[in-house]
Amino acid sequence: ALPTLAIIGRPNVGKSTLVNRIIGKRLAVVEDRPGVTRDRVNYRAEWAGRDFMLLDTGGWEKNVTGIDLSVAQAAEAAIELSDAIILVVDATVGATSTDEQVVRLLRKSGKPVVLAANKVDGPQGELEAAALWNLGLGEPYAISALHGRGTGDLLDAALAIL
Ligand code: GDP
Ligand code: MG
Repeated sequence: ALPTLAIIGRPNVGKSTLVNRIIGKRLAVVEDRPGVTRDRVNYRAEWAGRDFMLLDTGGWEKNVTGIDLSVAQAAEAAIELSDAIILVVDATVGATSTDEQVVRLLRKSGKPVVLAANKVDGPQGELEAAALWNLGLGEPYAISALHGRGTGDLLDAALAIL
């Protein structure tokens, strides 16, 4: 089986935009795997000559148990299913308590993580991205999932730990 890279993070931070960028612009979609829930969609992807599965986690906000709890539960499930993780944080918002909750889950899991500081659409956002060093996950990779800025470096880092 191919290794699985999961994209996790709070609702609205840009996870699906990042997935679309990876599979739609620079990587080929080979299959939409059947039998997965709407909350977790697996795509076959390729980067730098390596094949892997890309796991998009969505619909977390639909849970009735409250956003923070549903995020934690969905993150736990995604972490369990993955070999490595990209944690996406909205750099324009900064780290929230929900982000910190997910970071604690990631630490407990011991799974390798790369931190994506998303919505850095231009150089003026770099300072906000650097503030995310505080999450303790190492270098925040400043990206714009929307425009593609920095996503190549992020993927190189993610594949290095996958
Ligand atoms: P998800 O809930 O984490 O999957 O987030 P989405 O991918 O659905 O994105 C949520 C919103 O953020 C959408 O309006 C996106 O267009 C926007 N968005 C995502 N990435 C970026 C980015 O890099 N820059 C900006 N400015 N907006 C973004
Ligand atoms: Mg989404």
